[in-house]
Amino acid sequence: MAERTTVGEIRRVIHEAYPQELAESWDAVGLVCGDPQDDVSTVAFALDCTQEVADKAVELGAQMLIVHHPLLMRGVTSVAADTPKGKVIHTLIRNGVALLSAHTNADKARPGVNDKLAELVGIKPGRPIVPVEPYDNLEEALGLGRIGELPEAITLREFTQRVAEALPKTEWGVRAAGDPERMVKRVAVSSGSGDSFLDKAAALGVDVYVTSDLRHHPVDEHLRAAHLMDPEGPAVVDTAHWASEFPWTAQARDIVESVLRVKTEIIDLRTDPWTISAQKEN
Ligand SMILES: [Zn+2]
Repeated sequence: MAERTTVGEIRRVIHEAYPQELAESWDAVGLVCGDPQDDVSTVAFALDCTQEVADKAVELGAQMLIVHHPLLMRGVTSVAADTPKGKVIHTLIRNGVALLSAHTNADKARPGVNDKLAELVGIKPGRPIVPVEPYDNLEEALGLGRIGELPEAITLREFTQRVAEALPKTEWGVRAAGDPERMVKRVAVSSGSGDSFLDKAAALGVDVYVTSDLRHHPVDEHLRAAHLMDPEGPAVVDTAHWASEFPWTAQARDIVESVLRVKTEIIDLRTDPWTISAQKEN
């Protein structure tokens, strides 16, 4: 165990687990602010660096905050404190909190965000939906999404409830598209927004695809196309984006704790933007 931990040391450990080279070309991962030479005694973990999360990191006495979603992704010309993101940056720097994001690099790594989601919905994470090439063994390849099988086939209704129980609670909960009584066993998952993989998941012969941020037309068209080929074609489960990825924070914490002597805190503020759902009563 290290006697002294720094921002740079934690960054090294995170990038060993989630190599920066795995990130998509449009992504912005790594250290956002902070001095690699600064000492760290407490490191906090969250999914998004909102103002509330930054304030909480300060309150917890953290010197470093590790998040999934990049705070800054496109070019910025100002971090003035009277802009939302500028205020976050000022809060962090004034209070000596470094910020690091592990985004698509953490999605593709093994273990990564997708492995955590796969385990939660009850499958052993197998091949990615989109592997990173080259690979020796497809079942263990790096990449986006995971496919695996439930120990026993269950109905879509039961599976949807299982996903709702396994993920952190959100106002919208979990919804599914497909015949509630159809049996499902082979499952694909893709953490975060995964509608671009609807066709790929179907082509890989899954019974159900679990992802987030799904919209009417892509799902409707996907189901029609899939069911044309196979009436038992894949169902779709839609979760809150935050719920599919927040559990990753425990994985990132375990990675840091396994190598470095540092206090860790998971900030479990629900940063899902949706705060109300309603059903028509009559
Ligand atoms: Zn995400």
